[in-house]
Amino acid sequence: MQIIKASFAGLPSAVRTETFTGQVWIDAVLPAADGVLVNNVFFTPGARTYWHSHERGQLLHALSGRGLICAYGESPQLLEAGDVVWTSPGEPHWHGGGLDSCLLHTAVSLGTTTWLEAVSDEEYTAAKTIIRSRT
Ligand code: MN
Repeated sequence: MQIIKASFAGLPSAVRTETFTGQVWIDAVLPAADGVLVNNVFFTPGARTYWHSHERGQLLHALSGRGLICAYGESPQLLEAGDVVWTSPGEPHWHGGGLDSCLLHTAVSLGTTTWLEAVSDEEYTAAKTIIRSRT
């Protein structure tokens, strides 16, 4: 039997409070190097990032559950297991859990992250109409 370890030693799972709303846990997948951050991010229902942008863009891969992602000036969109999102360099956006569902995604963030204001409850719950209209 050969086990390829998926995690590396030294970095425990961490709760994020600054720049996040609600309960969000982060597991580093890879030690930060060359301006690349790879994290698994666990969002509980209602939890989300603040508005932010990534200097050189970000790849998200939803692994489990259902959540939301929203680009500035647009409506929140459903993010479901298997979905992949590329966010362009400098594009303001937020991502998080669903109204009643957890979301786990891997985030590959390139360059520095610029954090903006919190996503208001009004902005977040705008997703209600989107989800209802879809079903
Ligand atoms: Mn992002």
